[in-house]
Amino acid sequence: MNGARSQNSPEAKAGADAAVRLVGVNKWYGDYHALRDVSLEVRKGERVVLCGPSGSGKTTLIRCVNRLEEHQAGEIVVNGVPLDGNARNVDQVRAEVGMVFQSFNLFPHLTVLQNCTLAPIWVRNMPEPKAEALAMTFLDRVRITDQAHKYPTQLSGGQQQRVAIARALCMDPNIMLFDEPTSALDPEMISEVLDVMIELAESGMTMLCVTHEMSFARRVADRIIFMDGGEIVEQAPPQVFFAQPRMDRTKLFLSQILGH
Ligand code: ADP
Ligand code: MG
Repeated sequence: MNGARSQNSPEAKAGADAAVRLVGVNKWYGDYHALRDVSLEVRKGERVVLCGPSGSGKTTLIRCVNRLEEHQAGEIVVNGVPLDGNARNVDQVRAEVGMVFQSFNLFPHLTVLQNCTLAPIWVRNMPEPKAEALAMTFLDRVRITDQAHKYPTQLSGGQQQRVAIARALCMDPNIMLFDEPTSALDPEMISEVLDVMIELAESGMTMLCVTHEMSFARRVADRIIFMDGGEIVEQAPPQVFFAQPRMDRTKLFLSQILGH
């Protein structure tokens, strides 16, 4: 291929701007076909919300983006690095991608502060005082500095999830993945976590969020993707997605979660 021309082609420009690119991705768990020809591009700075019924493949999709799950066919490229089985590529992608899970996944035997400094110290070789100062900056950003010396079980679910977000941010990610970050929380704690996520979105972070919090989606998403049965069924900006869903499966899902 002609190098100069390919770099200037619309396709190459779109690719260069991509934070995450999936092309024809398929994944099986044994015989079960969990992702079916999924193609998706998330641009740098874009906020994408992924929704769909339970079992539709949302978790599988975002876990494939940092190789917590392996896909069997198709292409996944993150920040220009292909996830093709090369272990160094996997390390590079994980170093740049932060992930927040439904169940927080904090280390129970470490304090809040130690949860946040662990990776900067051991993965980035950061001196401990510097890692602590960094962690306190992000704990401040999620408004939880006063809990820094407590253990995760001494915190509410909402506080634990905010720590999990701060912990991810301590590694200076340029993409953040969220997998239903508020669905394990009591209702009164959902907004404190969403507020942190909204601030993060407004700071320009590239985000791929699995969530059914449609107020969040309306407010910050550039695009909503609806999955069902392992495939992307439909995607649109929020105003179009909610007002004019095209597919029957999308309409049914929206009527279930929005209650009309
Ligand atoms: P969602 O997050 O949309 O609820 P998942 O990605 O968790 O969906 O799961 C998609 C499908 O893959 C489901 O049918 C689920 O049972 C199946 N699945 C997920 N993880 C595994 C696994 N580790 N082994 C076998 N099947 C799995
Ligand atoms: Mg899931």
